[in-house]
Amino acid sequence: METLQPVRGTRDIIGDEQRRHAHVVATARANASLYGFDEWSTPIFEDTRVFSRTLGETSDVVTKEMYSFADRGGDNLTLRPENTAGICRALVSNGLTQSLPQKVFYAGPMFRYERPQKGRYRQFHQIGAELIGSAEPLADAEIIALGWDILNALNIAADVILELNTLGDAESRAAYRDALVAYFASHRAELSADSQARLDKNPMRILDSKDAGDRALLGAAPTIEPFLTASAAGFYADVKLNLERLGVPFRENPRIVRGLDYYSHTAFEFVTTRLGAQGTVMAGGRYDGLVAEMGGPQTPAVGWAAGIERLAMLLGAAPAASRPVAVIPMGDAAEAAAIAVLQTLRRAGIRAEMAYRGNMKRRLERANKTAARFAIIIGENELARGVAAVKNLTTGTQADIALDALADHVA
Ligand code: ATP
Ligand code: MG
Repeated sequence: METLQPVRGTRDIIGDEQRRHAHVVATARANASLYGFDEWSTPIFEDTRVFSRTLGETSDVVTKEMYSFADRGGDNLTLRPENTAGICRALVSNGLTQSLPQKVFYAGPMFRYERPQKGRYRQFHQIGAELIGSAEPLADAEIIALGWDILNALNIAADVILELNTLGDAESRAAYRDALVAYFASHRAELSADSQARLDKNPMRILDSKDAGDRALLGAAPTIEPFLTASAAGFYADVKLNLERLGVPFRENPRIVRGLDYYSHTAFEFVTTRLGAQGTVMAGGRYDGLVAEMGGPQTPAVGWAAGIERLAMLLGAAPAASRPVAVIPMGDAAEAAAIAVLQTLRRAGIRAEMAYRGNMKRRLERANKTAARFAIIIGENELARGVAAVKNLTTGTQADIALDALADHVA
């Protein structure tokens, strides 16, 4: 019969890879907790409008990448391509817009119909943090510091650099937009078809284009800096000051814009040179308009998301699988005692296994295959004396240990 394969762009995460993945999530969760963030889980699919209203009609995600479908009842649903919109929808749905600030951490799968390649999948996973309800630049700096601390705790900060930019306030952006339109209009023929459409609808989006021809035009494009209002420039200066106070190094890059339409002021990416074209590991910014787009009150917010697969690829060695203790009964009479020992060990927090069948040789082979730390051998002879023969499989030494002292001995 034909064997079935995982769907293109999806992967099974097993063994070392699963341990890398879990290590990234556990490390991020622990650091988020240190900063006062609580974890939320929102549904993997939402009403399509949660995304189409908020991510921007011209964003790549909405125009090309969403997994959208009508379900059996005729509702238009979308597998979430990102989780910020879902968190804001949840904030409003749960009446939490009056209990601000909310500091939210999440981890889970996201779905985008993209061309699969190293570090780019159709089902991928993100960790993310959102700080909703604070308009102060210290909030931007603090959430970036959380990201930086996670990269440090994962031991990959040396390979990553924070690139920082500002998208200004609405007034700054309107002025900048005019300058961008003037510049790109004078190069209209050289723009990709996508970017010609962006020029009319959302010219800032051209700065985020992955098309080589578009990118060649970016070097001479105007930057936002001369168009910033005094208050937008002041906000940006305060973000930088607070990053310095928090000990987060950064490099300013006026080309950083976010791929989604809902951002203002701070935009940032943590990038690495170690993953080729998929060099952005963590990205985010301020999105003061999003909660209102979701039908809630005007609410300031800032956040980021990071690709777990990309972070996992940067980790050094995968965390080791934890090594079990193998319990080996010899003979039927010993089996009941062995099962009791097995459960005592597990309840003491020790990973312990007993094979379901096989002679002593087979069972020892299995113990070695699972990299067991100890083999606890219980035969009738040992049973009569209330002990087990405990073999340290790392050193090869063996000793008789009283049954009620086993957990302490192998702990
Ligand atoms: P890219 O420019 O690489 O397409 P993006 O701007 O679309 O990224 P965001 O929407 O900001 O990405 O998502 C945040 C992070 O999620 C990215 O920096 C990346 O680490 C990860 N990510 C995004 N899309 C994918 C994907 N298809 N596969 C794996 N990771 C992804
Ligand atoms: Mg993308």
